Amino acid sequence: MLYYSTNKQVSGVSLQEAVVKGLADDRGLFMPDRIKQLPADFYANMDKMSFQEIACAVADAFFGEDVEAGALKNIVCDALDFDTPLVQVTDRIYSLELYHGPTLAFKDVGARFMSRLLGYFIRKQGQHRVNVLVATSGDTGSAVANGFLGVEGIHVYVLYPKGKVSPIQECQFTTLGQNITAVEIDGVFDDCQRLVKTAFMDAELNSHMQLTSANSINVARFLPQAFYYFYACAQLKRMAGITDPVICVPSGNFGNITAGLFGKRMGLPVKRFIAANNRNDIFLQYLNTGIYTPRPSVATIANAMDVGDPSNFARILDLYGNSHQAICADISGFAYTDGQIADTLRSCYRENHYLLDPHGACGYQALKDGLRDGETGIFLETAHPAKFLDTVEGIIGEKVQIPAKLQAFMQGTKQSVPMPNDFGTFKQFLLNQ
Ligand SMILES: *Cc1c(COP(=O)(O)O)cnc(C)c1O
Repeated sequence: MLYYSTNKQVSGVSLQEAVVKGLADDRGLFMPDRIKQLPADFYANMDKMSFQEIACAVADAFFGEDVEAGALKNIVCDALDFDTPLVQVTDRIYSLELYHGPTLAFKDVGARFMSRLLGYFIRKQGQHRVNVLVATSGDTGSAVANGFLGVEGIHVYVLYPKGKVSPIQECQFTTLGQNITAVEIDGVFDDCQRLVKTAFMDAELNSHMQLTSANSINVARFLPQAFYYFYACAQLKRMAGITDPVICVPSGNFGNITAGLFGKRMGLPVKRFIAANNRNDIFLQYLNTGIYTPRPSVATIANAMDVGDPSNFARILDLYGNSHQAICADISGFAYTDGQIADTLRSCYRENHYLLDPHGACGYQALKDGLRDGETGIFLETAHPAKFLDTVEGIIGEKVQIPAKLQAFMQGTKQSVPMPNDFGTFKQFLLNQ
C-alpha cells in the first residue's frame, strides 16, 4: 500500500517511510492510497470474534501488503494484550472502556502498535536506529514511553513542562529508564512542542540522526485506533442484537474519531458519529459555519482535549473530498464547559453508578443530547477516572480507588534531564547522544 500526503505534493510513499518520517516532506499528513472493504462474512461473524481476531483482520486490510502475515499477527497480539470491553450505562448508552492498557488510556493501543511496527522495520528491513521525540502535557508521554519501552533500535525523548504535569502522570514516563529519556523543560507545554517541531525542521540534526514523531499524525499510531470501533460494534451486536450504533468520541486532535471514520469507509455499519468537545470547540464551529478557524487552546478539566488546531482535521477534509455537506452528513458535534462536564460526571455517578473521567463525560453527555428516537449509542471512555484523581474526587466528593497498575508507577525513582527552554541547548544535547 502506498501513501500520499494531504497537501498533495507527495505521493507513492511506502509504509516504512511514512512511519519512519511521521510527517510528509510537504508538511502534510500521510493517507493510504486505498481503503479496503472488509468482506460480508467478516461482518456476519464479527460478533463471535475476540478483540485480537478482529484487530488482525482490520490490520491485514491496512498493513497486510507491507508486513508479512505471521509478523503482523504477532505485532497485533503482542500490542493488544488487553481487552476493550463494552459496558452498558443506561438503556440506550454504552461505554467502550479503552483504559485497560498499561497506562490506562486509549493511546496505549496506538503507541504499542506503532512501537512494534517500527521495531519490525528495524529488525527485518535494515532500518537504522530511530529517535522518537514527543512533547507532552501528560497523557501522550506516558502512553508513548510505556509503549516503546525496551523496543530495540528506538530511543524515546519525552519533553514535558517542569511542574506542569500531575505527579501521577510524571512518574509514568520519568521512572522507566532503558531507552526512555525524560527531558524536563523549564517552560510550558507549548515550549516543549515548539522545541520538538524546530528539531524536526533542523537540517543538521536530521542528517545526524533519524527523528520521528509518535503522535496521532503518524499512520502507525493513527490507523490501529480503528480496531476497537469494529470490536465495539461486534460487542453491541452480541449483547443487544443492535448493528447500527451512533458512536460518540471525545476529541482533541481528532485522530481517534478519524480512525472510526476509516472504519465506516471499510463497511462498518456505524449510523453516524458525534464529536464531543470541551470549550475548545473549533470543530463544532466548523460544522456550524463551514469555516475552519483555529485559535489558541484554553485550559479545561478535560485537558487531553485542549487543542486549538486539531492536526487530523486535514485527514477528515481529505476523506470527504473537502465537502462540508458530506462531513455534516456523517458527523455532528457538541461542546461543554467545565461546569457542564462536572455536572455530567456527578449525575452519571449518582444515577447510573458509573464513574466517568472528564473526557468520557463529554462523550456520554453528547450522546444524551444527540441520540434520536430509536437510536443506540456508544461513547468511547478514553481514560480511567483515577488518571484525573483530584478533579474527579473534587466533583463526586468521594475517594477514588487508584488501580494497582497506576500505583506501581508511583513507587519508581524519578530520573529526568533538566533543560532550559532554548533550542540551541536542546539541539546540542541531541547531537551528543
Ligand atoms: C488524547 C486524548 C483524547 C483526544 O484524542 P484525539 O485523538 O486527540 O482526538 C481524549 N481523551 C483522552 C483521555 C486523551 O488522552
